[in-house]
Amino acid sequence: MFENLSERLEGVFQRLRGKGKLTKDDVERGLREVRLALLEADVNYRVVKNFVDRVRERALGAEVLESLTPAQQLIKIVHEELIRTLGETPAPLDLGGSRPVPILLVGLQGSGKTTTAAKLALFLRKKGHRPYLVPADVYRPAAIDQLKTLAERVGVPVYDTDPTDNPVEIAKKALAEAKALGRDVAIIDTAGRLHIDEAMMTEAAAIKETVSPREVLLVADAMTGQDAVNIAKSFHEKVGLTGVILTKVEGDARGGAALSIREVTGCPIKFIGTGEKLEALEVFYPDRLASRILGMGDVLTLIEKAQEAFDLKKARELQEKLRRREFTLEDLREQIKQMRKLGSMQEVFSLLPGIGKKIKEMPFDEKELVRMEAIINSMTRQERLNPRIINASRKRRIARGSGTTVQEVNKLLKSYEEMRKLLKKARGPRGLERLARRLLQ
Ligand code: GDP
Repeated sequence: MFENLSERLEGVFQRLRGKGKLTKDDVERGLREVRLALLEADVNYRVVKNFVDRVRERALGAEVLESLTPAQQLIKIVHEELIRTLGETPAPLDLGGSRPVPILLVGLQGSGKTTTAAKLALFLRKKGHRPYLVPADVYRPAAIDQLKTLAERVGVPVYDTDPTDNPVEIAKKALAEAKALGRDVAIIDTAGRLHIDEAMMTEAAAIKETVSPREVLLVADAMTGQDAVNIAKSFHEKVGLTGVILTKVEGDARGGAALSIREVTGCPIKFIGTGEKLEALEVFYPDRLASRILGMGDVLTLIEKAQEAFDLKKARELQEKLRRREFTLEDLREQIKQMRKLGSMQEVFSLLPGIGKKIKEMPFDEKELVRMEAIINSMTRQERLNPRIINASRKRRIARGSGTTVQEVNKLLKSYEEMRKLLKKARGPRGLERLARRLLQ
């Protein structure tokens, strides 16, 4: 995510850091490089100009030039101004008003709208809401089925859209149905076209008129860069948006759309989509993204992900077992499951300060976790509870059963033994938390 921009900026600051004291010329040269880096990242030229002007105004003052750590001060200013460009504070969903609260999703075909509808439903369900999904794209028949399938996967009820109805009718009927079912939020997936066109805008506006949504969110593909910004501008002018959900951000090495949309359109980015999985939707925090871009890492998002993935009840049970020195291979299997829930480890590590870039070069094999789980699955319960009984012939059987080798079974048993020792050291009240913190440092 935004690797190119991060690397470029890192280079600029590295050169400045090497200098110690900075002159006005040094700062000007640095700013020219920052400007180029942003333009290369496909950030809107006006946004770049405003940004650089703001940084220059502050950077040429005593705050930087007379500081003992001028490069550090400059980075601080760039960080703060990036946050400003990205929208300063997070813009939470407005879920006020009478129930069910309608949320309208608009956008072009292929932007990820239908997937995002399901992601948003899952997000809200996890927050304790009772969402309802409404497929209102009658032009692409597959869209209705797609949303129905996704709805089932996220465990959220879906309106049984009649494709011969018109979208305004669908929205009206679906809201009545949502109300009857006691749902509190209705997410309406409207039709998308391949390009901006009048008919699409008129239809979105008509639905908006009829259901008076609290939120009209544009779903836009970050990979399309300035196109996404222009699309946002058109939709905002013609339909009126309350926010943007930027998708496919994880694959966007440049970041132009994310850095331009707020300032060009005045619309806040409310969420970002960071993968194809239905859990891959994050609340957009300007400060965290600015930190990620500047390679400072995003520890807060990491901790949230960990908290979400780790089942607290299971963690307590584990702690209890550790107290009784009973950490078995069954518990290890549970841990592996939890780790896999954390998503790709590389993605998780990339949120850590400093190591984001290095980790990408590391040959981390996520399949390893799958293999470990398969090996443990091939053991009998008795073996899992008492690995000491696993002799050579049992190892051969386990290897065969899991499609691995005896060496791999040995490796797993060794890791288990090491982990048991490590965890034993972390015993005591809050022991696991201490261990987690150590791993996070
Ligand atoms: P729609 O035509 O706008 O409804 O788009 P879809 O929801 O069908 O999504 C189009 C494609 O984009 C699908 O393959 C999705 O899995 C994919 N997609 C959606 N959001 C994301 C995201 O945040 N990251 C990635 N990598 N893919 C996404």
